[in-house]
Amino acid sequence: MNIGILGAMQEEIAPLLQIFGENHTHEIAGNVFYEVACKNSRIFLAYSKIGKVHASITATTMITHFHCECILFSGVAGALNPSLKVGDLLLASKLCQHDVDISAFGHPLGFIPESSIYIPADPALNAVAKNIAKEQNIPLKEGIIASGDQFIADAAKKQWLIKEFQADAVEMEGAAVAVACNLFKIPFCIFRSISDSADGEADASFDTFLQKAAEVSAHFVKSIVEGL
Ligand code: SAH
Repeated sequence: MNIGILGAMQEEIAPLLQIFGENHTHEIAGNVFYEVACKNSRIFLAYSKIGKVHASITATTMITHFHCECILFSGVAGALNPSLKVGDLLLASKLCQHDVDISAFGHPLGFIPESSIYIPADPALNAVAKNIAKEQNIPLKEGIIASGDQFIADAAKKQWLIKEFQADAVEMEGAAVAVACNLFKIPFCIFRSISDSADGEADASFDTFLQKAAEVSAHFVKSIVEGL
């Protein structure tokens, strides 16, 4: 099976390259794809660069060029739900684009005609993740992720995201990967470890905890790949 593993930033895939070892590289559309063998699978690892446009291009390349049959995202996010603390690991149940707004035409926020506000992650992959977390005694929470092309570092905006989308965490790529995978009918799941609380201290917290949080997510993704 070909598996795509995607992060947004170099820091998010660095621990994965350490785990899997660098092998063959391919360069397409401004991304480097690292191809590594793992058991009977071929893994294609890349970071997309930040934001929804980059993430959808990288996910699409993994699907159409490298024929990945499932996509895993490993990265960091800001917590919206007060029960989520720095270093906690979150699995997306469903994802939405919080910066989509055509409400002038009477549509709900986040809605695009012929699409939907939320895109669910693959239930089977999520079930694998939850089983592995249980077996290995890893605390894994599941929740709604809101994605948009903004770093959220503001208490009022944070409350708005909770109110409008019932979101538990916020980041800048997950929903874009969800849209690409959904349209190509490729199962996906999104893991995010918490780097900050999307409030006034988010930038400093992000800088302090990025590396540690990225490692938490990467190590769990390794267990998932071994379990597939
Ligand atoms: N420090 C970086 C920018 C990081 S942007 C630089 O200067 O280049 C934040 C990244 O982490 C995005 O990829 C996003 O998906 C995730 N993220 C973590 N916390 C976030 C938050 N509070 N709001 C939005 N995205 C967040």
